[in-house]
Amino acid sequence: MKNAITYFRSLFLFELLKGLSLTGRYLFARKVTLNYPEEKAPQSPRFRGLHALRRYPNGEERCIACKLCEAVCPALAITIEAEPRQDGSRRTTRYDIDLFKCIYCGFCEESCPVDSIVETRVHEYHFEERGENIMTKDQLLAIGDKHEAQLAADRAAQAPYR
Ligand code: SF4
Ligand code: SF4
Repeated sequence: MKNAITYFRSLFLFELLKGLSLTGRYLFARKVTLNYPEEKAPQSPRFRGLHALRRYPNGEERCIACKLCEAVCPALAITIEAEPRQDGSRRTTRYDIDLFKCIYCGFCEESCPVDSIVETRVHEYHFEERGENIMTKDQLLAIGDKHEAQLAADRAAQAPYR
């Protein structure tokens, strides 16, 4: 009897039809894949991408050169030099992040008392020349200026949980 069932199953291509029915079911099911980069998955407001330095609305840079971020960085990726300005305020003269060393842990962002160093949602970037992995203060400020609206919105969304 068992042999007869096996015979008829193979005669009518039962296994093939079973496989095709599974394929057909997934053909019309909701797709779980995305056509990246045209389609993108949603990101968390806590996404940790490319770094940026933020400014206050009046254009003044937030960073007060306290060096907490440099001290807390487990990868020693941040290098800061600072000196007082003529008005007595303390500001950085150099703020570099080596993105080859950075492990995107977010400790710098968490430690900053003035919400200056942050990580943006930007993750689509690459380097072509030696040394481009070192992000300078001017570059970080420019990234902050470009993404300030998103950065402010993300911080506002996280505020109740901080
Ligand atoms: S994200 Fe982490 S590893 Fe990268 S610079 Fe900040 S503290 Fe350092
Ligand atoms: S970015 Fe923040 S933590 Fe780092 S030196 Fe400036 S104020 Fe201090």
